[in-house]
Amino acid sequence: MLTAHKNFSLKKYNTFGVDVSADQFFDATSVDELKEALLVAKDRELLILGGGSNLLFTSNFRGVVIHPNIQEIRIAEEDKDSVLLKVGAGVEWDSLVEYTVNHNLGGLQNLSLIPGSVGASPVQNIGAYGVEVKDCIEKVEGILISNLAAITLTNSECKFGYRDSIFKNRLKGKVVVTHVYYRLTKKHKFITHYGNLDVEVAKFGDRTIQNIRKAVIDIRNYKLPDPEELPNAGSFFKNPIVSTKLIEFLQQKFQQVPFYPVSGSEVKLPAGWLIEQAGWKGRKVGNVGVHKNQALVLVNYGNATGHEILSLAHDIQRSVKQTFGVELEMEVNLVSVENK
Ligand SMILES: Cc1cc2nc3c(=O)[nH]c(=O)nc-3n(C[C@H](O)[C@H](O)[C@H](O)COP(=O)(O)OP(=O)(O)OC[C@H]3O[C@@H](n4cnc5c(N)ncnc54)[C@H](O)[C@@H]3O)c2cc1C
Repeated sequence: MLTAHKNFSLKKYNTFGVDVSADQFFDATSVDELKEALLVAKDRELLILGGGSNLLFTSNFRGVVIHPNIQEIRIAEEDKDSVLLKVGAGVEWDSLVEYTVNHNLGGLQNLSLIPGSVGASPVQNIGAYGVEVKDCIEKVEGILISNLAAITLTNSECKFGYRDSIFKNRLKGKVVVTHVYYRLTKKHKFITHYGNLDVEVAKFGDRTIQNIRKAVIDIRNYKLPDPEELPNAGSFFKNPIVSTKLIEFLQQKFQQVPFYPVSGSEVKLPAGWLIEQAGWKGRKVGNVGVHKNQALVLVNYGNATGHEILSLAHDIQRSVKQTFGVELEMEVNLVSVENK
């Protein structure tokens, strides 16, 4: 039975640990329960909330929050080379990665230990260590919020890009993802060229998906703060894509500026490097700060409000713009619906 929770605290439902509440909260464990909750939410402010690891609440949520909690991992198809897994939106992302690696199914191992839910994985096309989830997604099933109709999008219809998809653009706020289908390999391709992953994998032995998972977990545990200990939402900003002309200009002043080619005329700049060079790494401002090892990560040291975190983010954006002439775009989604 679907229960409506009133004045529900969202502190445990956002990895920044911001203390806000929702007027109404539903934990929907099936497609039918999701539809029921969506009917209650009709004509009201609505937020679909997974693990809250890519969100910043800047106020209480004066509306309905629905947590899609469909728990299902099922083989939809299998042939000699691959398996198509159908996975419910509520499955915790890393439990899925662990499941696939334990069953010797390849594709997701580089994405180990990313927080959050399966339902959110196509939304921002999660990525890490040279892999994006779009490389494995075959299709996405959901419900259209306007009329509760079922919708299926193929990989190409999802219009995946760097931390981007149709769910952040044309279908933003219009679809609840209920299931994601991942095509996983039996004969694996190993992607270990990113950073020092190769070296870390070798410490565990041969290149296997199991050893890649172990290495990724080790690197992430070392580099990134655990939100349980130091609340954060991972990378706060996207790595900006800029013109090669701007790089040539920047190189005159900053010879060491790192970048990765994207196309003939564009390159990707590491936002963490820009923030560090602008002097923010390890800085603490009241209850908030920039992590000491990873300048892309903003952290909540105590009882910070969403506004305090946002204000720090704006200061960093201004400072990077002044120093390098580069705009930093937020990767984290801002959520605010007060007194409507
Ligand atoms: C320590 C840390 C490390 C991280 N590392 C990475 C990383 O390496 N790579 C990376 O890509 N990300 C990373 N992230 C960001 C985050 O984990 C991902 O964006 C994740 O996919 C968010 O999942 P979630 O369930 O928490 O989504 P939420 O934060 O709950 O929601 C994110 C967005 O997706 C929408 N959404 C959620 N579920 C659904 C659904 N079922 N249907 C429709 N819309 C939905 C929400 O409305 C919101 O707009 C990191 C975060 C943290 C805290």
